[in-house]
Amino acid sequence: MTGHSVHDAVVVGAGITGLACAHALRQAGLRVQVLEREDRPGGCIETVREDGYLLECGPHTLRAANTELVGHLHDIGLGDRIRPLGPVASRRYIVRGGRLAALPSSPLGFFGAPFLSAGAKIRLLREPWIAPHEESDPSLGDFVARRFGPEVRDGPLDAFAGGIWAGDPARISARAVFPELVDGVRDHGNVLRWARARRKSRRADGTTGSGARRGDGPRKRLGIFTLEGGLATWPNRLGELLGEALHTGVEVDELRRDGDAWVVEWRGTDGASRDGGRGQTRARHLILTGGPGATARLAGDVLRPDAHDALESMRSASLAIVHLGFRISDVEPPEAFGVLVPEREGRACLGLLFVSSALPGRAPGGAVTTTTFVGGIRHPERLDASDEELVALATTEHEALLGFEAKPIFARVRRWNGAIPQYEIGHAGRVEALERQEVEEPTLHLRGRARGGVSVPDCWLRGTSCAERIVTAWSKGTVSA
Ligand SMILES: Cc1cc2nc3c(=O)[nH]c(=O)nc-3n(C[C@H](O)[C@H](O)[C@H](O)COP(=O)(O)OP(=O)(O)OC[C@H]3O[C@@H](n4cnc5c(N)ncnc54)[C@H](O)[C@@H]3O)c2cc1C
Repeated sequence: MTGHSVHDAVVVGAGITGLACAHALRQAGLRVQVLEREDRPGGCIETVREDGYLLECGPHTLRAANTELVGHLHDIGLGDRIRPLGPVASRRYIVRGGRLAALPSSPLGFFGAPFLSAGAKIRLLREPWIAPHEESDPSLGDFVARRFGPEVRDGPLDAFAGGIWAGDPARISARAVFPELVDGVRDHGNVLRWARARRKSRRADGTTGSGARRGDGPRKRLGIFTLEGGLATWPNRLGELLGEALHTGVEVDELRRDGDAWVVEWRGTDGASRDGGRGQTRARHLILTGGPGATARLAGDVLRPDAHDALESMRSASLAIVHLGFRISDVEPPEAFGVLVPEREGRACLGLLFVSSALPGRAPGGAVTTTTFVGGIRHPERLDASDEELVALATTEHEALLGFEAKPIFARVRRWNGAIPQYEIGHAGRVEALERQEVEEPTLHLRGRARGGVSVPDCWLRGTSCAERIVTAWSKGTVSA
Protein backbone atom coordinates (compact mmCIF):
# COMPACT_ATOMS: atom_id res chain seq x y z
CA MET A 1 0.00 0.00 0.00
CA THR A 2 1.37 3.41 -0.84
CA GLY A 3 1.34 6.11 1.76
CA HIS A 4 -1.14 8.27 -0.22
CA SER A 5 -3.80 6.71 -2.45
CA VAL A 6 -7.15 7.79 -3.91
CA HIS A 7 -10.18 5.50 -4.09
CA ASP A 8 -13.87 5.67 -4.82
CA ALA A 9 -14.63 4.33 -1.35
CA VAL A 10 -12.71 3.51 1.78
CA VAL A 11 -14.17 1.13 4.34
CA VAL A 12 -12.97 1.29 7.93
CA GLY A 13 -13.25 -2.18 9.47
CA ALA A 14 -13.13 -5.66 7.95
CA GLY A 15 -15.87 -7.24 10.02
CA ILE A 16 -18.69 -8.79 8.02
CA THR A 17 -20.35 -5.37 7.48
CA GLY A 18 -17.26 -3.81 5.94
CA LEU A 19 -16.34 -6.91 3.93
CA ALA A 20 -19.85 -7.25 2.52
CA CYS A 21 -19.89 -3.60 1.51
CA ALA A 22 -16.42 -3.66 -0.04
CA HIS A 23 -17.09 -6.92 -1.90
CA ALA A 24 -20.30 -5.55 -3.45
CA LEU A 25 -18.60 -2.26 -4.37
CA ARG A 26 -15.74 -4.09 -6.06
CA GLN A 27 -18.14 -6.26 -7.99
CA ALA A 28 -19.78 -3.08 -9.27
CA GLY A 29 -16.37 -1.92 -10.50
CA LEU A 30 -15.55 0.71 -7.86
CA ARG A 31 -12.04 1.19 -6.51
CA VAL A 32 -12.20 0.29 -2.84
CA GLN A 33 -9.83 0.04 0.07
CA VAL A 34 -10.61 -1.66 3.38
CA LEU A 35 -8.56 -0.73 6.44
CA GLU A 36 -8.58 -3.13 9.38
CA ARG A 37 -6.82 -2.74 12.72
CA GLU A 38 -6.45 -6.44 13.45
CA ASP A 39 -4.18 -8.79 11.52
CA ARG A 40 -7.15 -10.78 10.18
CA PRO A 41 -10.55 -10.02 8.61
CA GLY A 42 -13.77 -11.01 10.38
CA GLY A 43 -14.09 -8.74 13.42
CA CYS A 44 -16.39 -10.58 15.85
CA ILE A 45 -16.36 -13.65 13.58
CA GLU A 46 -13.28 -15.48 14.77
CA THR A 47 -12.54 -19.21 14.52
CA VAL A 48 -9.38 -20.69 16.02
CA ARG A 49 -7.81 -24.14 15.96
CA GLU A 50 -6.05 -25.21 19.12
CA ASP A 51 -5.02 -28.65 20.42
CA GLY A 52 -7.32 -30.37 17.91
CA TYR A 53 -10.35 -28.20 18.83
CA LEU A 54 -12.06 -25.97 16.28
CA LEU A 55 -13.41 -23.09 18.36
CA GLU A 56 -15.75 -20.24 17.54
CA CYS A 57 -14.74 -17.25 19.65
CA GLY A 58 -17.68 -15.09 18.54
CA PRO A 59 -20.85 -16.27 16.78
CA HIS A 60 -21.21 -20.06 16.59
CA THR A 61 -24.14 -20.31 14.20
CA LEU A 62 -26.11 -18.09 11.84
CA ARG A 63 -29.78 -17.88 11.02
CA ALA A 64 -30.33 -17.41 7.30
CA ALA A 65 -33.74 -15.83 7.28
CA ASN A 66 -33.38 -14.82 3.64
CA THR A 67 -32.37 -16.63 0.51
CA GLU A 68 -30.06 -13.75 -0.51
CA LEU A 69 -27.50 -14.64 2.14
CA VAL A 70 -27.48 -18.28 1.08
CA GLY A 71 -27.16 -17.17 -2.55
CA HIS A 72 -24.21 -14.97 -1.63
CA LEU A 73 -22.42 -17.89 0.06
CA HIS A 74 -22.91 -19.97 -3.09
CA ASP A 75 -21.70 -17.09 -5.27
CA ILE A 76 -18.42 -16.79 -3.39
CA GLY A 77 -17.81 -20.54 -3.57
CA LEU A 78 -18.88 -21.53 -0.06
CA GLY A 79 -22.11 -23.34 -0.98
CA ASP A 80 -20.61 -26.74 -0.28
CA ARG A 81 -19.36 -25.62 3.14
CA ILE A 82 -22.85 -24.82 4.48
CA ARG A 83 -23.90 -27.16 7.29
CA PRO A 84 -27.51 -26.77 8.47
CA LEU A 85 -27.92 -27.76 12.13
CA GLY A 86 -31.08 -29.79 11.74
CA PRO A 87 -33.43 -30.71 14.60
CA VAL A 88 -30.81 -30.25 17.35
CA ALA A 89 -31.05 -26.47 16.78
CA SER A 90 -34.57 -26.42 18.20
CA ARG A 91 -33.73 -28.46 21.32
CA ARG A 92 -32.91 -25.78 23.88
CA TYR A 93 -33.25 -25.51 27.62
CA ILE A 94 -33.88 -22.81 30.16
CA VAL A 95 -32.85 -22.99 33.80
CA ARG A 96 -35.74 -22.96 36.28
CA GLY A 97 -35.07 -23.50 39.99
CA GLY A 98 -31.53 -24.68 39.21
CA ARG A 99 -32.68 -27.43 36.81
CA LEU A 100 -32.93 -27.65 33.02
CA ALA A 101 -36.40 -27.36 31.51
CA ALA A 102 -37.02 -27.83 27.77
CA LEU A 103 -38.03 -24.69 25.89
CA PRO A 104 -41.05 -25.23 23.63
CA SER A 105 -40.45 -24.92 19.92
CA SER A 106 -43.81 -23.29 19.21
CA PRO A 107 -45.97 -20.69 21.04
CA LEU A 108 -48.63 -23.32 21.88
CA GLY A 109 -45.94 -25.36 23.65
CA PHE A 110 -45.79 -22.69 26.41
CA PHE A 111 -49.08 -24.05 27.79
CA GLY A 112 -47.30 -27.32 28.60
CA ALA A 113 -43.97 -25.75 29.62
CA PRO A 114 -42.64 -27.02 32.97
CA PHE A 115 -41.01 -23.68 33.77
CA LEU A 116 -44.32 -21.77 33.93
CA SER A 117 -46.74 -22.06 36.85
CA ALA A 118 -50.43 -22.88 36.30
CA GLY A 119 -51.23 -19.23 37.12
CA ALA A 120 -48.78 -18.03 34.46
CA LYS A 121 -50.41 -20.29 31.85
CA ILE A 122 -53.85 -18.94 32.68
CA ARG A 123 -52.38 -15.44 32.41
CA LEU A 124 -51.23 -16.26 28.84
CA LEU A 125 -54.86 -16.89 27.88
CA ARG A 126 -55.78 -13.30 28.82
CA GLU A 127 -53.50 -11.78 26.18
CA PRO A 128 -56.23 -11.16 23.56
CA TRP A 129 -58.16 -9.01 26.06
CA ILE A 130 -55.28 -6.78 27.10
CA ALA A 131 -55.19 -3.33 25.50
CA PRO A 132 -52.03 -2.24 23.67
CA HIS A 133 -49.39 -0.24 25.55
CA GLU A 134 -50.00 3.47 25.78
CA GLU A 135 -46.31 4.42 25.90
CA SER A 136 -44.81 4.68 22.44
CA ASP A 137 -41.46 3.18 23.53
CA PRO A 138 -42.01 0.54 26.21
CA SER A 139 -39.15 -1.61 27.42
CA LEU A 140 -39.14 -5.17 26.10
CA GLY A 141 -39.65 -6.39 29.67
CA ASP A 142 -42.71 -4.15 30.21
CA PHE A 143 -44.15 -5.05 26.83
CA VAL A 144 -43.89 -8.80 27.46
CA ALA A 145 -45.06 -8.58 31.09
CA ARG A 146 -48.12 -6.62 30.01
CA ARG A 147 -49.05 -9.05 27.25
CA PHE A 148 -47.98 -12.39 28.77
CA GLY A 149 -47.39 -11.80 32.47
CA PRO A 150 -44.34 -11.31 34.71
CA GLU A 151 -43.32 -14.99 34.76
CA VAL A 152 -42.73 -14.98 31.00
CA ARG A 153 -40.75 -11.75 31.38
CA ASP A 154 -38.54 -13.03 34.19
CA GLY A 155 -38.05 -16.52 32.74
CA PRO A 156 -37.89 -17.14 28.98
CA LEU A 157 -37.74 -13.49 27.89
CA ASP A 158 -34.95 -12.64 30.32
CA ALA A 159 -32.96 -15.69 29.24
CA PHE A 160 -33.56 -14.91 25.55
CA ALA A 161 -32.44 -11.26 25.97
CA GLY A 162 -29.28 -12.46 27.72
CA GLY A 163 -28.62 -15.06 25.03
CA ILE A 164 -29.19 -12.81 22.01
CA TRP A 165 -28.03 -9.36 23.12
CA ALA A 166 -26.30 -10.07 26.46
CA GLY A 167 -28.84 -7.43 27.44
CA ASP A 168 -31.35 -6.34 30.07
CA PRO A 169 -35.02 -6.52 28.99
CA ALA A 170 -35.88 -3.74 31.46
CA ARG A 171 -33.82 -1.35 29.31
CA ILE A 172 -34.08 -2.78 25.78
CA SER A 173 -36.62 -0.92 23.63
CA ALA A 174 -39.34 -3.33 22.46
CA ARG A 175 -39.91 -1.20 19.38
CA ALA A 176 -36.21 -1.18 18.48
CA VAL A 177 -35.85 -4.97 18.49
CA PHE A 178 -39.37 -6.10 17.51
CA PRO A 179 -40.85 -3.18 15.54
CA GLU A 180 -43.29 -5.36 13.58
CA LEU A 181 -44.67 -6.93 16.76
CA VAL A 182 -45.09 -3.64 18.64
CA ASP A 183 -46.74 -1.90 15.71
CA GLY A 184 -48.81 -5.01 14.97
CA VAL A 185 -50.25 -5.06 18.50
CA ARG A 186 -50.97 -1.33 18.29
CA ASP A 187 -52.76 -1.77 14.94
CA HIS A 188 -54.55 -5.08 15.54
CA GLY A 189 -55.15 -4.86 19.30
CA ASN A 190 -53.37 -8.03 20.43
CA VAL A 191 -50.66 -10.52 19.46
CA LEU A 192 -53.07 -13.21 18.31
CA ARG A 193 -54.87 -10.98 15.82
CA TRP A 194 -51.59 -9.51 14.58
CA ALA A 195 -50.13 -13.00 14.06
CA ARG A 196 -53.22 -14.09 12.11
CA ALA A 197 -53.14 -10.98 9.92
CA ARG A 198 -49.44 -11.47 9.26
CA ARG A 199 -49.89 -15.09 8.29
CA LYS A 200 -52.66 -14.15 5.90
CA SER A 201 -50.71 -11.40 4.18
CA ARG A 202 -47.63 -13.61 3.89
CA ARG A 203 -49.63 -16.40 2.35
CA ALA A 204 -50.99 -13.89 -0.14
CA ASP A 205 -47.55 -12.62 -1.19
CA GLY A 206 -45.82 -16.03 -1.07
CA THR A 207 -43.32 -15.36 1.72
CA THR A 208 -42.53 -17.70 4.59
CA GLY A 209 -43.20 -17.29 8.29
CA SER A 210 -40.04 -15.28 8.90
CA GLY A 211 -40.65 -12.97 6.00
CA ALA A 212 -38.32 -14.69 3.59
CA ARG A 213 -39.44 -15.60 0.13
CA ARG A 214 -39.55 -19.35 -0.41
CA GLY A 215 -36.56 -20.58 -2.41
CA ASP A 216 -35.88 -23.84 -4.18
CA GLY A 217 -32.79 -25.98 -4.68
CA PRO A 218 -29.54 -25.21 -2.90
CA ARG A 219 -30.41 -21.54 -2.40
CA LYS A 220 -33.48 -22.22 -0.27
CA ARG A 221 -33.86 -20.85 3.25
CA LEU A 222 -31.74 -22.81 5.68
CA GLY A 223 -32.70 -21.83 9.17
CA ILE A 224 -29.73 -22.19 11.49
CA PHE A 225 -26.44 -23.23 9.97
CA THR A 226 -22.70 -23.14 10.31
CA LEU A 227 -19.84 -23.52 7.85
CA GLU A 228 -17.46 -26.43 7.63
CA GLY A 229 -14.14 -25.22 8.99
CA GLY A 230 -15.87 -22.60 11.13
CA LEU A 231 -17.61 -19.32 10.44
CA ALA A 232 -14.35 -17.45 9.80
CA THR A 233 -14.23 -19.33 6.49
CA TRP A 234 -16.65 -16.67 5.22
CA PRO A 235 -14.71 -13.46 6.07
CA ASN A 236 -11.50 -15.21 5.06
CA ARG A 237 -12.97 -15.94 1.63
CA LEU A 238 -14.18 -12.35 1.25
CA GLY A 239 -10.70 -11.22 2.30
CA GLU A 240 -9.14 -13.42 -0.41
CA LEU A 241 -11.51 -12.03 -3.03
CA LEU A 242 -10.66 -8.47 -1.99
CA GLY A 243 -6.98 -9.26 -2.38
CA GLU A 244 -4.85 -6.15 -2.20
CA ALA A 245 -7.88 -3.99 -1.49
CA LEU A 246 -7.85 -5.33 2.08
CA HIS A 247 -5.20 -3.95 4.40
CA THR A 248 -4.98 -5.50 7.82
CA GLY A 249 -2.84 -4.26 10.68
CA VAL A 250 -3.70 -0.60 10.13
CA GLU A 251 -5.74 1.51 12.52
CA VAL A 252 -7.54 4.58 11.27
CA ASP A 253 -7.01 7.36 13.79
CA GLU A 254 -8.05 10.54 12.00
CA LEU A 255 -10.69 11.60 9.48
CA ARG A 256 -11.25 14.92 7.77
CA ARG A 257 -12.78 16.46 4.66
CA ASP A 258 -10.75 18.02 1.90
CA GLY A 259 -13.08 19.38 -0.76
CA ASP A 260 -15.01 16.45 -2.24
CA ALA A 261 -12.72 13.85 -0.71
CA TRP A 262 -12.48 12.18 2.67
CA VAL A 263 -8.96 12.01 4.02
CA VAL A 264 -8.36 8.96 6.18
CA GLU A 265 -5.19 8.84 8.26
CA TRP A 266 -3.93 5.51 9.59
CA ARG A 267 -1.03 3.99 11.44
CA GLY A 268 0.40 0.48 11.30
CA THR A 269 -0.52 -1.46 14.44
CA ASP A 270 2.55 -3.67 14.34
CA GLY A 271 4.89 -0.81 15.19
CA ALA A 272 6.59 1.80 13.03
CA SER A 273 7.94 -0.75 10.55
CA ARG A 274 4.89 -1.03 8.31
CA ASP A 275 4.66 1.56 5.54
CA GLY A 276 6.76 3.92 7.60
CA GLY A 277 4.21 3.69 10.41
CA ARG A 278 1.65 6.11 8.98
CA GLY A 279 -0.30 6.54 5.78
CA GLN A 280 -3.19 8.36 4.22
CA THR A 281 -6.02 7.32 1.93
CA ARG A 282 -8.40 9.63 0.07
CA ALA A 283 -11.81 8.54 -1.13
CA ARG A 284 -15.12 9.97 -2.29
CA HIS A 285 -17.16 7.75 0.03
CA LEU A 286 -16.24 6.81 3.58
CA ILE A 287 -17.89 3.84 5.26
CA LEU A 288 -17.43 3.43 9.02
CA THR A 289 -18.25 0.01 10.47
CA GLY A 290 -16.81 0.07 14.00
CA GLY A 291 -18.95 -0.13 17.14
CA PRO A 292 -20.84 3.00 18.28
CA GLY A 293 -18.34 4.14 20.94
CA ALA A 294 -15.32 3.68 18.66
CA THR A 295 -17.08 5.50 15.80
CA ALA A 296 -18.02 8.41 18.08
CA ARG A 297 -14.36 8.75 19.10
CA LEU A 298 -12.97 8.37 15.59
CA ALA A 299 -15.44 10.61 13.79
CA GLY A 300 -16.07 13.14 16.60
CA ASP A 301 -14.73 16.04 14.53
CA VAL A 302 -16.78 15.32 11.41
CA LEU A 303 -20.14 14.33 12.94
CA ARG A 304 -23.10 16.56 13.80
CA PRO A 305 -23.30 16.94 17.59
CA ASP A 306 -26.60 14.99 17.78
CA ALA A 307 -25.19 12.06 15.77
CA HIS A 308 -22.05 12.07 17.89
CA ASP A 309 -24.14 12.07 21.11
CA ALA A 310 -26.35 9.28 19.74
CA LEU A 311 -23.34 7.04 19.18
CA GLU A 312 -21.56 8.02 22.37
CA SER A 313 -24.60 7.44 24.59
CA MET A 314 -25.21 3.91 23.30
CA ARG A 315 -24.16 1.27 25.81
CA SER A 316 -22.49 -1.94 24.64
CA ALA A 317 -22.25 -5.27 26.43
CA SER A 318 -18.97 -7.05 27.10
CA LEU A 319 -18.72 -10.83 27.10
CA ALA A 320 -16.24 -13.54 27.97
CA ILE A 321 -16.39 -16.80 26.07
CA VAL A 322 -15.01 -19.81 27.92
CA HIS A 323 -14.31 -22.93 25.85
CA LEU A 324 -13.98 -26.13 27.83
CA GLY A 325 -13.05 -29.63 26.65
CA PHE A 326 -13.94 -32.79 28.56
CA ARG A 327 -13.11 -36.46 28.11
CA ILE A 328 -16.13 -38.01 26.40
CA SER A 329 -15.93 -40.94 28.82
CA ASP A 330 -16.32 -38.54 31.79
CA VAL A 331 -19.38 -36.51 30.82
CA GLU A 332 -22.66 -36.74 28.97
CA PRO A 333 -23.71 -33.41 27.43
CA PRO A 334 -27.39 -33.23 26.43
CA GLU A 335 -28.19 -33.88 22.75
CA ALA A 336 -29.33 -30.29 22.38
CA PHE A 337 -28.16 -26.85 21.32
CA GLY A 338 -27.69 -25.28 24.71
CA VAL A 339 -29.18 -23.76 27.83
CA LEU A 340 -30.11 -20.17 28.66
CA VAL A 341 -30.02 -18.83 32.20
CA PRO A 342 -32.42 -16.08 33.40
CA GLU A 343 -30.98 -13.49 35.80
CA ARG A 344 -33.34 -14.50 38.62
CA GLU A 345 -31.55 -17.85 38.89
CA GLY A 346 -28.56 -15.98 40.35
CA ARG A 347 -26.05 -18.03 38.40
CA ALA A 348 -22.69 -16.74 37.12
CA CYS A 349 -23.21 -17.41 33.39
CA LEU A 350 -25.67 -16.29 30.72
CA GLY A 351 -25.79 -19.71 29.13
CA LEU A 352 -23.96 -22.76 27.85
CA LEU A 353 -23.69 -24.10 24.32
CA PHE A 354 -23.33 -27.87 23.88
CA VAL A 355 -20.97 -27.39 20.95
CA SER A 356 -20.17 -31.05 20.30
CA SER A 357 -23.88 -31.97 20.24
CA ALA A 358 -24.84 -29.12 17.91
CA LEU A 359 -21.71 -28.88 15.76
CA PRO A 360 -20.07 -32.28 15.41
CA GLY A 361 -16.34 -32.45 14.68
CA ARG A 362 -15.32 -29.48 16.85
CA ALA A 363 -13.33 -31.51 19.40
CA PRO A 364 -10.50 -34.03 18.92
CA GLY A 365 -11.28 -37.77 19.17
CA GLY A 366 -12.34 -38.84 22.65
CA ALA A 367 -13.31 -35.31 23.71
CA VAL A 368 -16.35 -33.03 23.70
CA THR A 369 -16.44 -29.27 23.95
CA THR A 370 -18.84 -26.66 25.32
CA THR A 371 -18.92 -22.85 25.38
CA THR A 372 -19.90 -20.78 28.42
CA PHE A 373 -21.01 -17.15 28.04
CA VAL A 374 -20.16 -14.83 30.94
CA GLY A 375 -20.79 -11.12 31.56
CA GLY A 376 -23.31 -9.13 29.54
CA ILE A 377 -24.65 -5.64 30.19
CA ARG A 378 -25.74 -6.52 33.76
CA HIS A 379 -22.43 -8.07 34.81
CA PRO A 380 -19.45 -6.32 33.23
CA GLU A 381 -17.59 -6.83 36.55
CA ARG A 382 -17.39 -10.56 35.81
CA LEU A 383 -14.82 -9.79 33.12
CA ASP A 384 -12.50 -8.43 35.82
CA ALA A 385 -11.81 -12.05 36.79
CA SER A 386 -8.58 -13.67 35.61
CA ASP A 387 -8.70 -16.36 32.90
CA GLU A 388 -8.16 -19.02 35.59
CA GLU A 389 -11.08 -17.66 37.59
CA LEU A 390 -13.31 -17.63 34.51
CA VAL A 391 -12.41 -21.24 33.75
CA ALA A 392 -13.16 -22.19 37.36
CA LEU A 393 -16.48 -20.33 37.14
CA ALA A 394 -17.43 -22.12 33.92
CA THR A 395 -16.46 -25.48 35.40
CA THR A 396 -18.66 -24.82 38.45
CA GLU A 397 -21.58 -23.92 36.18
CA HIS A 398 -21.18 -27.25 34.35
CA GLU A 399 -21.19 -29.08 37.66
CA ALA A 400 -24.25 -27.25 38.95
CA LEU A 401 -26.36 -27.25 35.79
CA LEU A 402 -25.30 -30.46 34.02
CA GLY A 403 -23.96 -32.55 36.90
CA PHE A 404 -20.48 -32.79 35.31
CA GLU A 405 -18.17 -34.09 38.00
CA ALA A 406 -15.07 -34.30 35.78
CA LYS A 407 -12.60 -31.47 35.45
CA PRO A 408 -11.99 -30.07 31.95
CA ILE A 409 -8.98 -31.30 29.99
CA PHE A 410 -8.88 -28.14 27.85
CA ALA A 411 -9.80 -24.50 28.47
CA ARG A 412 -9.55 -21.24 26.53
CA VAL A 413 -10.92 -17.77 27.27
CA ARG A 414 -11.75 -15.01 24.77
CA ARG A 415 -12.91 -11.59 26.00
CA TRP A 416 -14.96 -9.14 23.98
CA ASN A 417 -15.10 -5.62 25.38
CA GLY A 418 -18.12 -3.53 24.40
CA ALA A 419 -18.97 -5.87 21.52
CA ILE A 420 -22.76 -5.90 21.49
CA PRO A 421 -24.56 -2.52 21.25
CA GLN A 422 -27.78 -2.26 23.24
CA TYR A 423 -30.87 -0.90 21.51
CA GLU A 424 -32.32 0.63 24.65
CA ILE A 425 -35.30 2.89 25.33
CA GLY A 426 -34.86 6.05 23.25
CA HIS A 427 -33.14 4.12 20.46
CA ALA A 428 -35.47 5.52 17.79
CA GLY A 429 -34.29 9.07 18.60
CA ARG A 430 -30.67 7.98 18.26
CA VAL A 431 -31.37 6.32 14.92
CA GLU A 432 -33.06 9.53 13.69
CA ALA A 433 -29.95 11.51 14.60
CA LEU A 434 -27.80 9.11 12.55
CA GLU A 435 -30.21 9.38 9.63
CA ARG A 436 -30.05 13.19 9.77
CA GLN A 437 -26.28 12.91 9.67
CA GLU A 438 -26.42 10.79 6.51
CA VAL A 439 -28.82 13.20 4.82
CA GLU A 440 -26.55 16.12 5.61
CA GLU A 441 -23.36 14.29 4.62
CA PRO A 442 -24.37 11.62 2.09
CA THR A 443 -20.84 10.39 1.41
CA LEU A 444 -20.24 9.50 5.05
CA HIS A 445 -21.89 6.13 5.75
CA LEU A 446 -22.38 5.13 9.39
CA ARG A 447 -22.83 1.40 8.96
CA GLY A 448 -21.71 0.06 12.32
CA ARG A 449 -24.13 -2.06 14.33
CA ALA A 450 -25.55 0.97 16.17
CA ARG A 451 -28.76 0.35 14.23
CA GLY A 452 -30.33 -2.20 11.93
CA GLY A 453 -29.60 -5.27 14.07
CA VAL A 454 -26.53 -6.88 15.59
CA SER A 455 -26.80 -10.37 14.12
CA VAL A 456 -24.29 -11.37 11.46
CA PRO A 457 -26.98 -11.63 8.72
CA ASP A 458 -28.22 -8.13 9.69
CA CYS A 459 -24.66 -6.80 9.47
CA TRP A 460 -24.12 -8.48 6.09
CA LEU A 461 -27.34 -6.94 4.79
CA ARG A 462 -26.36 -3.50 6.11
CA GLY A 463 -23.01 -3.67 4.34
CA THR A 464 -24.55 -4.90 1.11
CA SER A 465 -27.31 -2.29 1.11
CA CYS A 466 -24.76 0.45 1.75
CA ALA A 467 -22.90 -0.65 -1.37
CA GLU A 468 -26.16 -0.62 -3.34
CA ARG A 469 -26.85 2.98 -2.29
CA ILE A 470 -23.36 4.08 -3.28
CA VAL A 471 -23.52 2.29 -6.64
CA THR A 472 -26.93 3.79 -7.39
CA ALA A 473 -25.63 7.26 -6.60
CA TRP A 474 -22.54 6.59 -8.71
CA SER A 475 -24.52 5.39 -11.69
CA LYS A 476 -26.68 8.51 -11.55
CA GLY A 477 -23.51 10.55 -11.63
CA THR A 478 -24.08 12.03 -8.19
CA VAL A 479 -22.21 11.35 -4.99
CA SER A 480 -25.34 11.59 -2.86
CA ALA A 481 -26.44 8.12 -1.85
C1 LIG B 1 -19.31 -13.35 21.57
C2 LIG B 1 -20.28 -12.99 20.47
C3 LIG B 1 -21.20 -13.92 20.05
C4 LIG B 1 -22.08 -13.61 19.02
N1 LIG B 1 -22.96 -14.55 18.59
C5 LIG B 1 -23.71 -14.32 17.48
C6 LIG B 1 -24.47 -15.36 16.89
O1 LIG B 1 -24.49 -16.49 17.40
N2 LIG B 1 -25.18 -15.08 15.75
C7 LIG B 1 -25.14 -13.85 15.17
O2 LIG B 1 -25.79 -13.66 14.13
N3 LIG B 1 -24.43 -12.83 15.71
C8 LIG B 1 -23.69 -13.04 16.83
N4 LIG B 1 -22.92 -12.04 17.36
C9 LIG B 1 -22.99 -10.69 16.79
C10 LIG B 1 -22.18 -10.55 15.51
O3 LIG B 1 -21.06 -11.41 15.54
C11 LIG B 1 -21.66 -9.12 15.36
O4 LIG B 1 -22.68 -8.16 15.63
C12 LIG B 1 -21.15 -8.89 13.93
O5 LIG B 1 -20.20 -9.88 13.59
C13 LIG B 1 -20.56 -7.50 13.84
O6 LIG B 1 -20.01 -7.31 12.55
P1 LIG B 1 -19.47 -5.87 12.13
O7 LIG B 1 -18.74 -6.01 10.87
O8 LIG B 1 -20.58 -4.87 12.13
O9 LIG B 1 -18.51 -5.43 13.32
P2 LIG B 1 -17.15 -6.10 13.80
O10 LIG B 1 -17.19 -7.55 13.60
O11 LIG B 1 -16.88 -5.56 15.16
O12 LIG B 1 -16.09 -5.49 12.80
C14 LIG B 1 -15.65 -4.16 12.89
C15 LIG B 1 -14.19 -4.17 12.52
O13 LIG B 1 -13.73 -2.82 12.47
C16 LIG B 1 -12.40 -2.80 12.95
N5 LIG B 1 -12.12 -1.43 13.38
C17 LIG B 1 -12.81 -0.70 14.29
N6 LIG B 1 -12.27 0.53 14.40
C18 LIG B 1 -11.22 0.57 13.52
C19 LIG B 1 -10.28 1.58 13.17
N7 LIG B 1 -10.29 2.79 13.75
N8 LIG B 1 -9.34 1.29 12.23
C20 LIG B 1 -9.32 0.07 11.62
N9 LIG B 1 -10.19 -0.92 11.93
C21 LIG B 1 -11.14 -0.66 12.87
C22 LIG B 1 -12.40 -3.80 14.10
O14 LIG B 1 -11.09 -4.26 14.39
C23 LIG B 1 -13.30 -4.89 13.54
O15 LIG B 1 -12.57 -5.90 12.89
C24 LIG B 1 -22.03 -12.32 18.41
C25 LIG B 1 -21.10 -11.38 18.85
C26 LIG B 1 -20.21 -11.71 19.86
C27 LIG B 1 -19.19 -10.70 20.30
